[in-house]
Amino acid sequence: MATERIGRVACPEQDPQVRAHNFDEVCLGYTPEQALLEAGRCLHCKNPRCVSACPVGVDIPDFIAAVKEGDNAKAADIIARDSTLPAVCGRVCPQETQCEGSCVLGVRFEPVAIGKLERYVADWARTNGYSTDVKAESNGHKVAVIGSGPAGLACASDLAKKGYEVTIFEALHKAGGVLQYGIPEFRLPKESVLAHEIGEVKALGVKIETDVIAGRTVTVDSLLDEEGFDAVFIGTGAGLPKFMGIPGENLNGVFSANEFLTRNNLMMAFREDYATPIRAGHKAVVVGGGNVAMDAARTALRLGAQTSIVYRRSEVELPARKEEVHHAKQEGIELCLLTNPVEILDDGKGWVRGIRCIRMELGEPDERGRRSPVPVEGSEFDIECDTVIMALGTSPNPLIASTTKGLETTRKGGIVADNEGVTSRPGVFAGGDAVTGAATVILAMGAGRTAAAAIDRYIKGLQAKEA
Ligand SMILES: Cc1cc2nc3c(=O)[nH]c(=O)nc-3n(C[C@H](O)[C@H](O)[C@H](O)COP(=O)(O)OP(=O)(O)OC[C@H]3O[C@@H](n4cnc5c(N)ncnc54)[C@H](O)[C@@H]3O)c2cc1C
Ligand code: SF4
Repeated sequence: MATERIGRVACPEQDPQVRAHNFDEVCLGYTPEQALLEAGRCLHCKNPRCVSACPVGVDIPDFIAAVKEGDNAKAADIIARDSTLPAVCGRVCPQETQCEGSCVLGVRFEPVAIGKLERYVADWARTNGYSTDVKAESNGHKVAVIGSGPAGLACASDLAKKGYEVTIFEALHKAGGVLQYGIPEFRLPKESVLAHEIGEVKALGVKIETDVIAGRTVTVDSLLDEEGFDAVFIGTGAGLPKFMGIPGENLNGVFSANEFLTRNNLMMAFREDYATPIRAGHKAVVVGGGNVAMDAARTALRLGAQTSIVYRRSEVELPARKEEVHHAKQEGIELCLLTNPVEILDDGKGWVRGIRCIRMELGEPDERGRRSPVPVEGSEFDIECDTVIMALGTSPNPLIASTTKGLETTRKGGIVADNEGVTSRPGVFAGGDAVTGAATVILAMGAGRTAAAAIDRYIKGLQAKEA
């Protein structure tokens, strides 16, 4: 039988009953034998649809061919040409809608497990001390990057490879953005995997200054006018949580998913050697259906709460990655679908005692083609709980826009930037969630890379005018 026809090689995982009680990584990654077998399924297409579907254009067929040859160092070098964070992307990218979603094998068989192979190569490089980074000689120009999420890291890394002196300014005490404070340890280990990839960016010469809030400690104007930076990239993400505006949202025991996850991930509340307080309660209800909702629910479960997710549409419309939904269900999280909260109930002492919901049914499709949920009159019912976590999406923080002259923003607070990251303010570029609103790691990285190329052209253009 041709190799591509064998089923996709399954990746080992922690047992659901065991992992529901710990924060260790769920997916254990391929063994060398499994990676070889899976790599053997790739057809090395002449016109690889997987590459066009990857927002950073990783040369997928060639890196998989290198794995097939047993040359993991070559595979790591090929990936490094286009991706700064391969171990991160191999773990959290929605491959099913991107590279794997376009893999030609998927038409008749199962697509190649591109993400798991990328992770395998990156983990091999890390655990074997293989570095793909080469420090470039300085070209004498300085660029400031605000925000150390995937957009900022990708932009900084590409600029450093071109010889720019790059400083990242980060508001929090640790770099990584959502990768650090949002995505939990059981999907993305911080001290081993994330810290290593950030270390590789630093090895290129990129400086990271934490605890610096742009718009307060420094401003875009002071960086350009007083601190000698030739250009500024804004990659400040979309970290401002949304609430529903229903009665009871200010009760004790109601959290935004951002706060809940930040306490747990950035401030390590799950570890006994940290004193960060966190409350998951006995019964937690998470409102929302995206990756953030799945992460919050699976975290609450691991902290000891019986956990349900309340989502107003059906399972088909759940925006979270299929793999995350599957893992959440395996771990015992209940999905209350076609259900919408109308009120959070008070126990009479200012604490949550439950959540009142209404049943929904799907009506006509909305402007994005998704069928709109419509409340079923008179169908209200109560779910008993002592913690409610709102995971309803986020929007960009207005601080930078409100403290930077001439920086245009949209009605929703996003920074206005063209396809190359050029903003309304000369010398200022932007990308990632700060521009698009909440999106994905790989789209943020793609935007960071595109902006790095635009910054290079801008600075070279200034030099040419001066000459
Ligand atoms: C819980 C959660 C789970 C997710 N899961 C996935 C997933 O599985 N797959 C996926 O592809 N995407 C996922 N996403 C989305 C993805 O993480 C984001 O789209 C991505 O991180 C955006 O990158 P960014 O660099 O634009 O912004 P961010 O990652 O948000 O980074 C922005 C950084 O800027 C800093 N900052 C903000 N304001 C300032 C300031 N004024 N001065 C200095 N620094 C500042 C912030 O502290 C932050 O570190 C998830 C998001 C969340 C919240
Ligand atoms: S489309 Fe699929 S089979 Fe073809 S090169 Fe890409 S991963 Fe390999």
